[in-house]
Amino acid sequence: MSNKIIRTAELDPNFKFEVTAHESARDLNYCFACGSCSAGCPIHEVFPDYNPRKLAKMIKLGLRKEVLSSDYIWYCATCRTCEQRCPQKVSFFNVLNVLKNIAAKEGYAPTAWVEQTKQVMQTGIVFPIEETCVKKREQLSLPSLKGEGKKAKKLIETTGLDEIESRG
Ligand code: SF4
Ligand code: SF4
Repeated sequence: MSNKIIRTAELDPNFKFEVTAHESARDLNYCFACGSCSAGCPIHEVFPDYNPRKLAKMIKLGLRKEVLSSDYIWYCATCRTCEQRCPQKVSFFNVLNVLKNIAAKEGYAPTAWVEQTKQVMQTGIVFPIEETCVKKREQLSLPSLKGEGKKAKKLIETTGLDEIESRG
């Protein structure tokens, strides 16, 4: 989201309709760019360039590629403060989920996110299980976590999440 020159020929006027066609993001139509979402966002406080209001304006402007390829749409901490603060009842949290779904389908998913999905398919847990943890569980006679990803794998395969490729 740098301050680059915007060329009107590169804008996609249908992008806002594509996003607001999703019921959970429909209220974005009522956004009047007040900035309350950004003001309350804990991620914006740490990374000032992460700015929900700016993203909302970029969507409306039709900066499709810039929005979908942006790292920032993956920064959200899912706290939902933005939707609680919004005077127009926009859930920017939901808007981000719509953006992430479109971005993932178009090959913009971050590598770490795709790797974590693979990890969940194997073990049912997002992060790799360390050998010390495996041994500790054995010592405590706790069940092995191996194969625990079976149900998650089925769910991920059913939703097509396993076919998502990272941006590399
Ligand atoms: S708080 Fe709501 S109306 Fe204000 S900029 Fe954010 S989304 Fe738009
Ligand atoms: S849900 Fe995401 S965008 Fe909304 S306030 Fe929390 S971190 Fe910011």
